[in-house]
Amino acid sequence: MSDCLFCKIIAGEIPSEKVHETSTTFAFRDINPQSNVHVLVVPKAHHEDAAALAAADPRLLADVITAGAAVAKQEGIDESGYRLVFNTGEHAGRTVFHAHLHVLGGEQLGLFGRPGS
Ligand code: AMP
Ligand code: ZN
Repeated sequence: MSDCLFCKIIAGEIPSEKVHETSTTFAFRDINPQSNVHVLVVPKAHHEDAAALAAADPRLLADVITAGAAVAKQEGIDESGYRLVFNTGEHAGRTVFHAHLHVLGGEQLGLFGRPGS
């Protein structure tokens, strides 16, 4: 998709700090990290969100999650623990409309849900 930020990052048209890549996925550091380790894993093919990706290509969704686990291992947080998050829609604070998996960890994470809780 020509107007998509993450498609441009995958294509190398916008710089990113790459941490992992497979034939179907690309992973890079979040520009505004919410924890010591905060990496985004995206499918190279454009899909709007996680549910659309699951419906269109379940194998590719599995590739994204497998890549997330590989990132956690590479970052040394697979044993200490990590959180995998897909945000969907306004209430989740979704801002980029190319499906992406957040890999968060490297420290004790807070609870999640209501702001400030
Ligand atoms: P979401 O809120 O789930 O849509 O997540 C979008 C994420 O993309 C946010 O955590 C942003 O900090 C991150 N982000 C936005 N632009 C960039 C960029 N150019 N490089 C890396 N991460 C980005
Ligand atoms: Zn895209």
